[in-house]
Amino acid sequence: MFDKVLIANRGEIALRILRACKELGIATVAVHSTADADAMHVKLADESVCIGPPSAAESYLKIPALLAACEISGADALHPGYGFLSENARFADILHEHGITFIGPSAEHIRLMGDKIEAKRTAKRLGIPVVPGSEGGVTTDKQAMRVAKQIGYPVIIKASAGGGGRGMKVATSEDQLSMSLATARAESKAAFGDDTMYLEKYLGTPRHIEVQVIGDGKGNAIHLGERDCSLQRRHQKVWEEAPSPALNNEQREEIGMIVANAIAELKYEGVGTIEFLYEDGEFYFIEMNTRLQVEHPVTEMITGVDIVIEQIRIASGAPLSLSQEDVRLSGHSIECRITAENPSTFMPSPGTISYFHPPGGLGVRVDSGVYAGYTIPAYYDSLIGKLIVHGKNRNECMMRLKRSLGEFVIDGIETTIPLFSALINEQDIINGLYDIHWLEKYLEKP
Ligand code: ADP
Repeated sequence: MFDKVLIANRGEIALRILRACKELGIATVAVHSTADADAMHVKLADESVCIGPPSAAESYLKIPALLAACEISGADALHPGYGFLSENARFADILHEHGITFIGPSAEHIRLMGDKIEAKRTAKRLGIPVVPGSEGGVTTDKQAMRVAKQIGYPVIIKASAGGGGRGMKVATSEDQLSMSLATARAESKAAFGDDTMYLEKYLGTPRHIEVQVIGDGKGNAIHLGERDCSLQRRHQKVWEEAPSPALNNEQREEIGMIVANAIAELKYEGVGTIEFLYEDGEFYFIEMNTRLQVEHPVTEMITGVDIVIEQIRIASGAPLSLSQEDVRLSGHSIECRITAENPSTFMPSPGTISYFHPPGGLGVRVDSGVYAGYTIPAYYDSLIGKLIVHGKNRNECMMRLKRSLGEFVIDGIETTIPLFSALINEQDIINGLYDIHWLEKYLEKP
């Protein structure tokens, strides 16, 4: 096991990782920008190193600064969290060259899954169902038209190097296709430095369902069931739940095993998520995330598995601590991402938290890095915490969520708590009947 882990992240996830390290008896090093000197993870870590000014490009994304922090502190491993450098294969390579373990998959797997065309090709080869579309990239308009005709309109144009919901365009006709293709190419070139595009059938009313996996890198892998993350705004997840209200046990078992077998065959090491769109009983692979995800706690709540501890153990060379038969799904869990934003306009609301009272009680978990008196810096993501609840079934979970939201007090800034308080009274949410467009439509209503 590692002696000292450097946590190359901030906010709630830095704290989450710190907690796992403490429980494993590993010393922790926090890194922070000058804007984050007062952050909770800095206060709770055994050591901390300032790595630069507020701008993420000059701190949390700056590889030389992180390497120096590893060297100064003598950390033998680095946990990247999510975002920032968590899916940067070059960073994983550089750490390896310096004898520091990157707590994540191999650089080769990060690279493979970071190229969306390659990822899709690999998924297909491993028996994972994919969205019908072009075999690889489309280079000419003529080729794009031919593929679109084959799969039928509407189609979605995607950037192979894309991510974060950017670089995608929907085309409903041939005329629109050639126009959108040109803009999509230009945008992708500007954003990602690569204009390789591919085409997919556009699904009208899918749900977003993803499967959590863990592999040991030696050909053993398990799945921990699925999460339903269909409630999204601008392709950003807002509310996640496990299990998905849309699947029955048979479907759950089937997709879980397809994915676990594929991950085993890939000899994937570490935790990862295979994301699908799900429509009319069919799953369609969209991408694999080769890192820990924001919404991992809902899976922890229904399985009792500490995903971060498992991730650290595997990176240190330990085998999987449980087999597929040991994984038991129990009850239901929902996570609400609470951001420092106006609940209707979503305008960021940085500032000082004057009062902070999180909810408590059985089945309630708050993962947050903030406290009363803390000033939220304006430089980063607006996520300030996650409220995660667990109940014996979805109904109990919803009642507990309602009760917890009622107790949650964050004064001094605006938060999205009122949005969640409204959502739990919506009939479609109560019934679990929503697709990936539901929230946007709800928010458009006067
Ligand atoms: P990114 O890596 O940018 O997040 P994804 O491929 O994961 O891109 O897709 C992001 C979102 O775009 C999905 O969650 C879904 O809302 C939408 N999307 C992607 N592919 C399709 C498709 N074939 N049909 C309909 N919507 C899609």
